[in-house]
Amino acid sequence: MAVRFDVITLFPELFAPFQSVGVTRRAFESRQVDVRLWPLRDHAEGVYRRVDDRPFGGGPGMVMLVEPLVRCLAAIRASQSADGAGKLPVLLFSPAGKPLTQQRVQQLAAAPGAVLLCGRYEGIDQRFIDAHVDEEVSMGDYVLSGGELPALTLIDAVTRLQPGVLHDAASHEQDSFSDGLLDCPHYSRPEVLPASAVGVEGGADLPVPPVLMSGHHAQIARWRREQQLAITARRRPELIEAARARGELSKQDEHFLSKLAL
Ligand code: SAM
Repeated sequence: MAVRFDVITLFPELFAPFQSVGVTRRAFESRQVDVRLWPLRDHAEGVYRRVDDRPFGGGPGMVMLVEPLVRCLAAIRASQSADGAGKLPVLLFSPAGKPLTQQRVQQLAAAPGAVLLCGRYEGIDQRFIDAHVDEEVSMGDYVLSGGELPALTLIDAVTRLQPGVLHDAASHEQDSFSDGLLDCPHYSRPEVLPASAVGVEGGADLPVPPVLMSGHHAQIARWRREQQLAITARRRPELIEAARARGELSKQDEHFLSKLAL
């Protein structure tokens, strides 16, 4: 089943290059992930096709107007209904939203889709948000110029979870956050790297951790798990607490963590 995203944006051209590169390209070409762009200015009226105006009460910046958004959303609803897609929820990108997590991405990857609303300027007239927005999504505690990069981020994160998009299906299962922890380090050829190859003259050679060359799958899995635990405990201790609260840490994990110098 395809995941459909109807994207409301003032800058549809930002989405074009993204859909033609990388592992996710096939998912867009096959419409496994069906991205439909809705340029907001197409739904504005008047000679200037105005989509924004000054804020009541004064202050800097401009506010996105309700009427073009309402007309655009009505067109999207008509299209969804004609395609039998049902009424997909409206997600607004906003610094005031709930931070996006891999868990939410996994839910969206298994859902039929959403309307993605990309704000610009100071944001959107609150009356549209109150009437039509189901969920506000934040990319983090910083401010971007628009919701287009957040929309691309969400679409990319959802797309790489679709069956067949990644060459190795197990790949995203070992990504950071999939099991609640950060990812372990990865190494590839050569087995031993001369220090000079990384620009350190006279330094010691850099071998990959010997366990990775042992061929002993259980030991490799344990080493990777311990690397994950160590990195997560040092960088994001709250994720360890959350994993513990979910009962996802084994006795072996707890023993390793108790000996770990933080
Ligand atoms: N006045 C808004 C505020 O302080 O919260 C910032 C508006 S910002 C310049 C314009 C648009 O960019 C927002 O409406 C939103 O769609 C998007 N945006 C900016 N930062 C974001 C973030 N951290 N997460 C999600 N969307 C963001």
